[in-house]
Amino acid sequence: MPGGHRLSARRALLPPHRHRMGLSIAQKPVRRILRAAERGRGSLSPMNCPFCGGDDTRVVDSRPAEGGAAIRRRRECERCSNRFTTYERRDEALVVIKRDGSVQPFSPSKVFTGLGYAVADLDIPPGSLDRIVREIEMFVREEGPRVNSEDIGHRVLDALRDLDEVAYLRFASVYKEFRGASDFEVEMAALEEQPRS
Ligand SMILES: [Zn+2]
Repeated sequence: MPGGHRLSARRALLPPHRHRMGLSIAQKPVRRILRAAERGRGSLSPMNCPFCGGDDTRVVDSRPAEGGAAIRRRRECERCSNRFTTYERRDEALVVIKRDGSVQPFSPSKVFTGLGYAVADLDIPPGSLDRIVREIEMFVREEGPRVNSEDIGHRVLDALRDLDEVAYLRFASVYKEFRGASDFEVEMAALEEQPRS
């Protein structure tokens, strides 16, 4: 990690928009990242006809499958008349248990947004946020279906520590709810003690 980052790390306690004069300038990277993520969607849905891409299909047969865990549907495309099969399963609900005991559905896009604020203005390799979100989602699937928000936070911190020191400290300052400079100093010291490759 270049030493320049460490010098500017103290600024990490400030919200990203305080780093520059205007709120709009500093928030632009976040919007750009979120827009790029949005563009990645919109590929052909598994419900579309695999032969012609048509989305108008008629169910010609429907029966239980996988011992009742799924429903197998035979569909006929209204456009090209080809037939294909879909399986309907209940998605396993991944649940995050917050510190106050309340639960909410796990949301990869929330993780993405949190990361976006942590790395705003920073020069990070393209695709690294997507990679971290995938890592976190895999972790939640492995640990789940119920995972403590604290464990997710720790995983995000681990990933950010490897990615960028300032992003790590920003996220840590929000996540750990640093109350003052002393907490921050402890965290800085911990970073410096850590052997880096
Ligand atoms: Zn078709």
